[in-house]
Amino acid sequence: AAKAAGRGRYRFFTTDLDEEAQQRRAIEMALHDAIANGEFELYFQPLFDLKSNRFSAFEALIRWNRPGQGLVSPQDFIGVAEETGLIVPIGEWVLKEACRIAATWPADVSVAVNFSTVQFETPGLKNQVFQALATSGLAPSRLEIEITESLFLESSGQVLETLHSLKQVGARIALDDFGTGFSSLSYLRRFPFDKIKIDRSFIMELLKTREANAVVKAITDLAAALNMETTAEGVEDAEQVEALRAHGCTNVQGFLFSRPIPAGEVVALIQACATRYAA
Ligand code: C2E
Ligand code: MG
Ligand code: MG
Ligand code: MG
Repeated sequence: AAKAAGRGRYRFFTTDLDEEAQQRRAIEMALHDAIANGEFELYFQPLFDLKSNRFSAFEALIRWNRPGQGLVSPQDFIGVAEETGLIVPIGEWVLKEACRIAATWPADVSVAVNFSTVQFETPGLKNQVFQALATSGLAPSRLEIEITESLFLESSGQVLETLHSLKQVGARIALDDFGTGFSSLSYLRRFPFDKIKIDRSFIMELLKTREANAVVKAITDLAAALNMETTAEGVEDAEQVEALRAHGCTNVQGFLFSRPIPAGEVVALIQACATRYAA
């Protein structure tokens, strides 16, 4: 209607900011329905272990079957879910669903679940994890919780305490997207992560610039010295794999191995990989 009134008026009354706010509001409303109607689905992407030449874990990645809009990527709604707190019920669903599905996989395959910083601000996270494991029967060591560096902006003792309590339950903790944003080596000193995931932006540059190559090598060396595993994110070609292997990176994840796939295809992919690398 504003548009019909003429270009000048449109520009006067509706700024881009208003439009964006309205769009976010619409997503928020639709997310409420999505939670109530069960419109979410988990896809899984494998992590390939360079020592054992097999898929050692799958990362759960949420998708939204938004009516009339097809599969919506998390990039288009996780931000709004975090701002509105809706990530808390969504994250709880992801956790339960990921554990339930992973319990049906071979016992040497783990599941990685992304946790938002907002989830750490709610009490009872440890209990949520404990319950999800107990209900599904998944061995705690098969759950890998992925957090990002933004968690440490909170930098309260509370965050570290919660992380330690999750380790107490038996889950593993991975530091996701390492090297983006607010990297500080002090996190690595303050908490014994089980794994560091090197952000895709470094892997993209790995074979192109000496600097990216040096940074990736330094991260894998540091992780090894701290007894932490390393996963390279966004691996798209075989040359990257060989460079990463030479650097001592422990596992790799990316479109080269598989795009994220529906839950129903995971076991077949594990079997296909086992056949390929058998003897
Ligand atoms: P992430 O945790 O870093 O997940 C990896 C993302 O990189 C996934 O995007 C994956 O599809 C994409 N990716 C993997 N390999 C490649 C590759 O070789 N090339 C390229 N170009 N991309 C690759 P996706 O599924 O769109 O997820 C985006 C982000 O949304 C995730 O980044 C994570 O931060 C967030 N997210 C996804 N699921 C959840 C969830 O259940 N809870 C929360 N809190 N966040 C989630
Ligand atoms: Mg992740
Ligand atoms: Mg990541
Ligand atoms: Mg990433």
